[in-house]
Amino acid sequence: MKPTDLLTAHFRVDAPHQKALKKLGIATVADLLMHLPARYEDVSDIQSVGGLQKDQEAIVFGQLSGLKLRKAWKSKRPIAEGYIEDGSAKIKIMWFNQPYLAKMYSDGMYVKLVGKVTGSDGKLYIANPEVEKLDALPIDRHDSIFKGTDANMDETIYPVYRETKGVTSKWFYHTALKCFEAGVLETMTDPIPLSILEKYKLPVLKTALVWIHSPKKAEHAQSARKRFAFEEVFYIQTQKAIDRAMVSAASTYQVNTDPKHLKQFTDRFPFELTEAQTTSIASIIDSFTKNHAMSRLLEGDVGSGKTAVAATTAYAVATSRPPEGIKSESGKVSDLAFGNLQVAYMAPTEILAKQHFESFIEYFKHLPINIGLITGSGCQKFPSKSNPNKPTPISRAQLLKWVKNGEVPILIGTHALIYKSVEFKHLAYVIIDEQHRFGTNQRKQLAKKDARMPHLLSMTATPIPRTLALTIYGDLDITLLDQMPAGRKPIITEIIGPGQSAKMYEHVRSELQSGRQAYVICPRIEEPDPDKQTALQLKSVVAEAKRLATTEFRDYTIGVMHGKMTPADKDKVMKEFAEHQLDILVATSVVEVGVNVPNATNIIIEGAERFGLSQLHQLRGRVVRGTHQPYCFAVTDSKGDKTKERLKALVTAKNGFELAEHDLNFRGSGELYGQKQSGLSDLGMEAIKNLKLVEAARTEAQHLVATPPHIAKDFPLIAERVAKLGESLHME
Ligand code: ADP
Ligand code: MG
Repeated sequence: MKPTDLLTAHFRVDAPHQKALKKLGIATVADLLMHLPARYEDVSDIQSVGGLQKDQEAIVFGQLSGLKLRKAWKSKRPIAEGYIEDGSAKIKIMWFNQPYLAKMYSDGMYVKLVGKVTGSDGKLYIANPEVEKLDALPIDRHDSIFKGTDANMDETIYPVYRETKGVTSKWFYHTALKCFEAGVLETMTDPIPLSILEKYKLPVLKTALVWIHSPKKAEHAQSARKRFAFEEVFYIQTQKAIDRAMVSAASTYQVNTDPKHLKQFTDRFPFELTEAQTTSIASIIDSFTKNHAMSRLLEGDVGSGKTAVAATTAYAVATSRPPEGIKSESGKVSDLAFGNLQVAYMAPTEILAKQHFESFIEYFKHLPINIGLITGSGCQKFPSKSNPNKPTPISRAQLLKWVKNGEVPILIGTHALIYKSVEFKHLAYVIIDEQHRFGTNQRKQLAKKDARMPHLLSMTATPIPRTLALTIYGDLDITLLDQMPAGRKPIITEIIGPGQSAKMYEHVRSELQSGRQAYVICPRIEEPDPDKQTALQLKSVVAEAKRLATTEFRDYTIGVMHGKMTPADKDKVMKEFAEHQLDILVATSVVEVGVNVPNATNIIIEGAERFGLSQLHQLRGRVVRGTHQPYCFAVTDSKGDKTKERLKALVTAKNGFELAEHDLNFRGSGELYGQKQSGLSDLGMEAIKNLKLVEAARTEAQHLVATPPHIAKDFPLIAERVAKLGESLHME
């Protein structure tokens, strides 16, 4: 048996079974072996029916049989009864006064059953048990591996796999064992060099596979999981290291900026730069002088002033000349008489692109620098010929012509920026706002035929834990903008539990009364079908707006905004809200994180428990833009202490980074923000909790990429895995 063999070549797999496997992405033996258990359960917790004693609290797993309904002999009360059988014995079960129960279950069904053993010896039964239906019985201790191991073995764990209808945990487990028996392990090569495994005391592939699928000890399972987690992070880190090496190898535009020149620009700002802004700008300006392209992530809470950093550094580039004698691809020396170095600034949505365009106009209006805006719904250019203080709509073709000949040094836009037809003359600097998957490929794509790699600044307000940042952004230098502009009032956050909303509405009304505005965010809806999710979300936004309009906020004007609206409609609503024609904006959480309306100082977040803390933090960031006292109300119906405790962190945490770490610890790792962007599996996300492991994987990956002349030649298995990763990561 070889790992690449199709499962169907060795096992009888019927059609529905095959369909189920396909759903899990499993076709080959290797796929099956890499379908790792999601967790383990301890069989020592399971009692055998044969060993049950009177008055014991029983937890048994077995099959139901002989279910029927009868009337009690004297009282005529209805009694449902039957048996549960687990291979060791069977015992009677009885429910009194609950005749419907017998109808809910049927003979042959696998169940977990919890209840008290009563009756008299020889006539024991379990009274009114709780029943949980199962797809299959857990692998019992009479099975396989647990048999005949050391006598003092007290750990008896069995694997539980992610299942889907049609394939059970038990099947995965037994099939994996059969593959081992068929000798597949002997044919498998470990892609990770032994020296690395030894260094970190990780098991080799063969051992790890046995340990993960059929551990005899919990430590073995742990150790195997660690190995696979390391492997996953290691591939990602290797890919990042390769990306980074590619960027370093390419030539770039060196930009040298006189500090006095920059000061002229920043002196005009209506505020003092924060220290964090000043140092961030300095690091970027310094990177521009190097002979390889910058790759930098600027992480800062909403409102920390990333746009000013972007504008200042864009200014440095857009006022620089291309080096002398640059040759174009055709070999002609390019026309140097025209055009400075160029900047592309990409935003995730039209609204944000427009907002950046407007901010840039403010920053640049005193200068003879053209700024273009390109989005799916149209193009603009600043300044307009007729009015030097205003932008003007222009045709796409015209704008692209000016971008191509260098007349427009700053182009702001949405994804429309990467379209084939957009060509720059000397693209030296790419700024990306909140785009997580923007990599070396896209950067190259933007630069088109230009052999030079532009500098890259990726900006994000999404606080993510350090380990995740190291993984997702392994190829970037990270700069933190961890300081808010002076004069900002810290946000007052309150957790609003069930029955406490009256006070909140009263407060918000008083704020509206004194001229402020408010956001109401409707809860995130978790629903596997994204279409349905959007539909439900839309419904909840519309319903909540209606409710508020006739109850709590009947004296105020309310607008709605959700993902299904056209960009034009969104713009219209946003404009009305920005101009204070609307007092309240009811919106979904998916809408435009960075929207800037300084007068909106209140935010009500419904269903707060459904969000991650960092996401809540980001949402409330919308109201810290002005000089008035901002308020955030996190509303939850949940009565659970855990939820309350988790949400409390919102009140006490000092910044978004702290909250991101909380998210990592509090929530199931699978729900953590960034998993999708990172392409990490659940196991990989588990690894993210372990800083040492992530750092080790990173160190080894960088070492691997730095030392051998050729990864593809020396480590073909790693190269293959990394290439696969690249494909899936670069797909949008
Ligand atoms: P971010 O993009 O980081 O969320 P912005 O760049 O949009 O934040 O800045 C938010 C607001 O703060 C803007 O109105 C901007 O003019 C203002 N701002 C930026 N830097 C400062 C500063 N150092 N002092 C005062 N206000 C600032
Ligand atoms: Mg911003």
